[in-house]
Amino acid sequence: MIKNIAVFLLCLLLLLTPLQAAVNIFSVDLAGYKMTSMVIAEMKHEKKYFRYHDAKLLQKYLDMPDSNASAINVFFAEYGKNKILFDTGTNAKSITAALKEINVKPEDVNMICITHMHYDHTGGLLDNNKRTFPNAAVYIPKEEADIDENKNSDIFSIYGKDVKLFPRNAEIIPGIRSVPAFGHTKGHTSYLLTGKGQSVLIWGDILHAPVEFAHPDVYLVYDAYSLQTIETRKEILKKYAGTGTYIAGAHLVSYGIGKIKREQNGYIFAPLKK
Ligand SMILES: [Zn+2]
Repeated sequence: MIKNIAVFLLCLLLLLTPLQAAVNIFSVDLAGYKMTSMVIAEMKHEKKYFRYHDAKLLQKYLDMPDSNASAINVFFAEYGKNKILFDTGTNAKSITAALKEINVKPEDVNMICITHMHYDHTGGLLDNNKRTFPNAAVYIPKEEADIDENKNSDIFSIYGKDVKLFPRNAEIIPGIRSVPAFGHTKGHTSYLLTGKGQSVLIWGDILHAPVEFAHPDVYLVYDAYSLQTIETRKEILKKYAGTGTYIAGAHLVSYGIGKIKREQNGYIFAPLKK
């Protein structure tokens, strides 16, 4: 029930958010791939949807400038014949328009790695009940496909045998591993790309706004399992802060690619490009 409310609120938020045309594109060579961030939308989360055990403190935290700033980013990694999307944004129209800006046709995409099955990550897979990406295999974490609300998704019937369910800690292809990061949803999964002495964690929805970097115990109503969300988030922030690993976040501002730094009692996102 609570989960359903969260999904409903998420859909409502996305409906209320004016989606801009994808004009913000940033590419960088990372971990052996040409990595492109496509900013499908920029937005702010409504402050009333944040949660924290101390309401007064939460208010103070949210008073920080841009505490609730957010975005929807889709990442595209290209190397040789590998043309890989990480999530697909909210709908087919915006993701195909974004890909067109980097001269990629939907039929060129041969792999899609899904972090979790919320609408703002899988909405681009289908275009009027047809495949948006006719030649792509779609990798989905098994735990995510097992969720009752997801079981009957049209994605499974329409992509058929091209849906590849994988267990936790799977090698998707050499150089790309899945990293279980459960909490935001039951099967929420990040992907670690390594190559050429570099690594980048495409982390999905580990967090949604700057306030959660500064105060990692703050969460949003969309986080299905709040305690697990916070535990996973803290683990990942601690593990990667101050290291050479880049992160790429679906809802981080400034194109979403950068590094994590410690700051005071929390963390801060240091984007590669502002
Ligand atoms: Zn999301």
